[in-house]
Amino acid sequence: MSWIWHKSGRIDYLTLPKWQAEGIDVGFSTRVGGVSQAPYDSLNLGLNVGDDHAAVLENRQHWLEQWGVPLSRVAVGEQVHGTKVVWVNEEDRGRGSRELETAIPAADGLVTQGAVGLMGFFADCVPLFFYYPDLKAVGIAHAGWKGTAHKIGQKVMECFENVGGCTENAWVAIGPSIGPCCYVVDEHVAAQFRSNYHETPFLRAQEDGHYRLDLWEANKTLLLGNGVCPENIEEALTCTADNPKWFFSHRRDGARTGRMTGWISIREA
Ligand SMILES: [Zn+2]
Repeated sequence: MSWIWHKSGRIDYLTLPKWQAEGIDVGFSTRVGGVSQAPYDSLNLGLNVGDDHAAVLENRQHWLEQWGVPLSRVAVGEQVHGTKVVWVNEEDRGRGSRELETAIPAADGLVTQGAVGLMGFFADCVPLFFYYPDLKAVGIAHAGWKGTAHKIGQKVMECFENVGGCTENAWVAIGPSIGPCCYVVDEHVAAQFRSNYHETPFLRAQEDGHYRLDLWEANKTLLLGNGVCPENIEEALTCTADNPKWFFSHRRDGARTGRMTGWISIREA
């Protein structure tokens, strides 16, 4: 079973029952059930968007309560639309969970085999979730157009392969993010995809010189090209820009909006 919607107390989120059954906690939040005021209403989990700091911390704690995890056990990367992926372990617990300054610098991807929860923040960019069963390792990546064009998903898989992980056995999930229905980009963006991908069927030229970009398909192409089995890819196929009731969207709302979280953690026995 692929992504499903789940309600826990005031919070609605998406999760993957198949992963949960394997002992991997995984979720993608909605904007519902938090304490932030407009335009961050209400479950804004991003600290870098101009929202009240205390409200964001309360929201983060509220999100983590349902997973039975304190903020002090979570690691957060400083997301810069780059492709750096960092291995984290128990020593990194708490980094970036309460303030931006301690986040793992310039890390749009995090991977771990340890007892540390990983959080990324999203408002249209594609959340990629990874589970390598043979390594008992998980990862998360922030793949906007830049991260996707420069193949952050592949960088994550290389991190696992470097320690003996088998990508043919990997599970990967693509969470809610902006869909091809709502994402039109210019030549500058299209050119970066053309220079990094052999074929770009996920870019469709429009008559006005712009392109419709399917970030889901681009990331799926990358995953398949690196050996992930199609049956191990879970796609939410849910557009953040199309669903103002449930999701923040940078493209729809502009810079002053909130962030959802992508969450993944190896459940402690
Ligand atoms: Zn859409």
